[in-house]
Amino acid sequence: MSKASQKKKNEALGLPTYCPDWCAGGLKNHWQAFMEGCPVEDARVHVSVDHCGFTNDIVNHLKQRLDRRGGAGWDVKLQQDDLLPSHMGMALVRLDMHVWRDDRSQHPSSDRLQMDLTPGEARTLAAQLINLADTYDLR
Ligand SMILES: [Zn+2]
Repeated sequence: MSKASQKKKNEALGLPTYCPDWCAGGLKNHWQAFMEGCPVEDARVHVSVDHCGFTNDIVNHLKQRLDRRGGAGWDVKLQQDDLLPSHMGMALVRLDMHVWRDDRSQHPSSDRLQMDLTPGEARTLAAQLINLADTYDLR
């Protein structure tokens, strides 16, 4: 499908006809999300690729004990600010954190935290995390 043809299809459905360079997948992904049942309000939001990580169990083998249970995780990505009406709204850094209960099944409603950070807030958080990690590791 040509870009012009995809643009027309998106326009007819109220989906973006232009994507910022950080939007993963571009116009076709907005259309595909809608076709797969995503509501138009969600399908038109620009989203970057995401980066995720998980915590592991920390086990003290000498004392044969679990010092920290792993299973928590995070996911970060750029996402268009959906509160702004413009289809080219400001991008925020979405930090999504979750923990698993002891049975390791995920309960997103009760064990999930989602924060939308401005780029400046995200840099502050990153700098604080690095500073704390360095304070411990480089002592
Ligand atoms: Zn996009």
